[in-house]
Amino acid sequence: MASLKDMRFIIHDVLDTEGHLASLGVDASCDRAFIDAVLDEAFKFTDGELKPLNASGDREGCTLKDGVVTTPAGFREAYRGYIAGGWAGLVGPTEYGGQALPPTFGLMLEELICTANMAFAMYPGLSRGCMHALIAHGSEAQKQHFLTRLLTGEWTGTMCLTEPHAGSDVGLARTKAEPRADGTWSITGTKIFISAGEHDLSDNIVHLVLARTEGAPAGTRGISMFVVPKIDLDGSRNSVVCGAIEEKMGIHGNATCVLNFDAAHGYLVGEENAGMKYMFTMMNTARLGVGLQGVCLAQRGFEASSGYARERLQMRSLTGPKAPDKPADPILVHPDVRRMLMAQRAFIEGGRALCYYANQCVDILEMGADAERRQRAGELLDFLTPIVKGFLTEWGFTSVNEAVQIFGGHGFIRETGVEQYVRDSRITLIYEGTTQIQGLDLLARKVMMTQGKGLTHFIGEMQQAAAECRAELPELATTLEVIIAEWPALSMQIGAKAMANPDEVGAASVDYLFYSGYAVLATMWARMAVTARRRLAEGVDDAYFAAKIDLARYYHARIVPKMAGHKAAMLTGSDNLMQVNDAVFTAD
Ligand SMILES: Cc1cc2nc3c(=O)[nH]c(=O)nc-3n(C[C@H](O)[C@H](O)[C@H](O)COP(=O)(O)OP(=O)(O)OC[C@H]3O[C@@H](n4cnc5c(N)ncnc54)[C@H](O)[C@@H]3O)c2cc1C
Repeated sequence: MASLKDMRFIIHDVLDTEGHLASLGVDASCDRAFIDAVLDEAFKFTDGELKPLNASGDREGCTLKDGVVTTPAGFREAYRGYIAGGWAGLVGPTEYGGQALPPTFGLMLEELICTANMAFAMYPGLSRGCMHALIAHGSEAQKQHFLTRLLTGEWTGTMCLTEPHAGSDVGLARTKAEPRADGTWSITGTKIFISAGEHDLSDNIVHLVLARTEGAPAGTRGISMFVVPKIDLDGSRNSVVCGAIEEKMGIHGNATCVLNFDAAHGYLVGEENAGMKYMFTMMNTARLGVGLQGVCLAQRGFEASSGYARERLQMRSLTGPKAPDKPADPILVHPDVRRMLMAQRAFIEGGRALCYYANQCVDILEMGADAERRQRAGELLDFLTPIVKGFLTEWGFTSVNEAVQIFGGHGFIRETGVEQYVRDSRITLIYEGTTQIQGLDLLARKVMMTQGKGLTHFIGEMQQAAAECRAELPELATTLEVIIAEWPALSMQIGAKAMANPDEVGAASVDYLFYSGYAVLATMWARMAVTARRRLAEGVDDAYFAAKIDLARYYHARIVPKMAGHKAAMLTGSDNLMQVNDAVFTAD
């Protein structure tokens, strides 16, 4: 079950979404009451229709027979409910049948769907990425034919980058695109690991495929993007077939496919050789979505493990029995069980705040009229995207592991359900660019190549948060001020080392990603604590707000010190990784 209360707190109280949307000139009907109504309706659908299919979908998985992929029982009906509810077109442009609500609404829906059922969420999730790329780069004819059907949900989409020898290095892709006499293209090659690549939820699937035209430059500069529909414009079956579905560790309810394109009919999107640029439109949206997946799964883990910690009776409290009438105390009395629960919640709520905060930048980019404001939002979003993707998925995985730990041996047993969250969440650290790729993106591209533009904007946000905390929550202001003084200098120090030796970037980047993630969440917690303080001062006597402040203090006192370890590690340089004997890397 998603935490509607916390979503509302972040969306309304912390981020003032109503005011934010009004500042972008969004229709006044998108007010707090409307946001709440959408949240309630979406929750009703996701909790009622999708959540019950989460464990059964995991057990049953998808099957492939005679080229036909069947999704787990109930998925087809649930997808029909998704279409009937009008959820597919929530944020798309009205001229193609969408409802044109701001991107923040899309995020709310995504959170609720994914918390209920991540494997299901990936069917509409991939469609959203596909729509995004078509809206930005598709021709009018492509929009009329494909986008309109994607927006009704009648058709779904995919994104086909990966090939057996081309994963993180998409520029190695070999799928070929040859021109046909009629101006269309013939696409030949094999794509692997394609999420929602084939299934029985929709009649047609719109594949966005990266391929190489003849004579194209090597690497990413020679990649073009094509729409390759499963059912072609004339209604015939296109020659793209599912060769296999992967047997995998988690998200069993989502079909991960090998797709064989055999002179399939394709339509060029935009210009030749610009495919990587276009794919980034899709990937940036998708990376924010994958970061959110980390939060959603952690939310499920926290719900399960916090309930269990209250009920499970094992051993006595170190300070004497707390439930003397029972054979033992609930494990919640043990300090380290409390630490694990607080770590989960600190990450979930800090991560949620970060996702909605980053998404406000998307709102500004897509709807803002003021060019300067849009530019700042774009720079900030570029900087935050690898942090959302890399840090929130790493912490999401840690969180669901802690949930299993709280269940002890029972967590390892399928029946309790928490082991599924660990299996499902593991992929989030890999697809849409691994943690290593996010680290490099953050440090090399988003910080060093921009001379720290996004970082500078975020430091400004931190200064504001520190000032707001100074009077009533001075310990939070102090931690922020230390980070404010340290982070830019540390970035410059690493940058200077990289000038002399490029391996310094790769050696520092994942530690830098973690360091940055902790810093960003420290800011989110400061903002949440200040807001909760205000609510308490208004006389709202709510344990939830008091808990927020406790969690903020916990985060700043017990989690922020982890940054020092990452800082120390990255400053040791690259020699202890690169100047070592090769025997270090052999298993015998
Ligand atoms: C369930 C699932 C769903 C997927 N869905 C899709 C999809 O819908 N569409 C699609 O196109 N793809 C999809 N993928 C593919 C996914 O995006 C890739 O698996 C991922 O990008 C990593 O590529 P790879 O597996 O080839 O690993 P590799 O690129 O071979 O990487 C192997 C290891 O090397 C590391 N590494 C590589 N380069 C560097 C570097 N420069 N510095 C440091 N470390 C490096 C990586 O971090 C990783 O740890 C999916 C994969 C799975 C398993």
